[in-house]
Amino acid sequence: MQNGSPGFFAGKLDELVSWGRLHSLWPFPYGTACCAIEFMSTESARYDLSRIGSEFVRFTPRQADVLVVSGTITFKQAPILKRIYEQMMEPKWVISMGACACSGGFYDCYCTVPGIDRIIPVDIYIGGCPSRPEAFFDAMLELQEKIKNQSYIEERKKKLKEQWESIKEWGLSIRNWKK
Ligand code: SF4
Repeated sequence: MQNGSPGFFAGKLDELVSWGRLHSLWPFPYGTACCAIEFMSTESARYDLSRIGSEFVRFTPRQADVLVVSGTITFKQAPILKRIYEQMMEPKWVISMGACACSGGFYDCYCTVPGIDRIIPVDIYIGGCPSRPEAFFDAMLELQEKIKNQSYIEERKKKLKEQWESIKEWGLSIRNWKK
């Protein structure tokens, strides 16, 4: 800080929270095939994912913000993927990386899920076979842009409203049960 400048800054809480979130998106890699190798290379010195604050790849869903699904997903794996998604804390986002994760790719067979959006909600899709690390970077930048426009206060209001509605429902059912 330069001499004579004020020792504070003013801003909105919403903007501060979004700024913190979008510069610390920690990925959880769910890699099952070749696209996972492309994801791994985004962590190398050549691409350097830490430039956008996402270098901390987490291997526990409870510490991750972004689920990166890269590779073919079979119906046998579907419940596992869903459970991992459910174990992640809110707010959470999902990137579907590569043709296989987005649509089943060229596997037109009984065992392959034709797109992970049949199991979990997807925020960003990356096409290609394989998806290049540059495309993954682009997806992360797009996700950052999306988060920038999300309002933390509105999210909290919506959550509190939902909780209040479920408490009211629960109270009504207890009252009815006592009658
Ligand atoms: S999209 Fe292509 S490169 Fe990626 S997992 Fe499927 S087959 Fe492999």
